[in-house]
Amino acid sequence: MVQTQLPVYDKLALTRAKAGVGCRYNESHFKTNPTADMTEPKTWMCLICGWIYDESAGAPDDGIAAGTPWAQVPMNWVCPECKARKEDFEMVQI
Ligand SMILES: [Zn+2]
Repeated sequence: MVQTQLPVYDKLALTRAKAGVGCRYNESHFKTNPTADMTEPKTWMCLICGWIYDESAGAPDDGIAAGTPWAQVPMNWVCPECKARKEDFEMVQI
């Protein structure tokens, strides 16, 4: 008898959810705050590896929609390059 297995990412999501860590799987459904102030898009740079987060571009490959303000990027999001936390990023002017 063949047991139905959850896809790997679902298992990971469940594991993280149980651990209270949250996960990208859920965050992709996270509704952005419609009352966010309409300030101009900013860029944030990872101080560890130099990866740039552009608010107008977002990080679609990482589950962050284009136009997502830095403040609305989940606190448990990490740098796609080096896994640094948000606190390791600094706003930069380009
Ligand atoms: Zn980084």
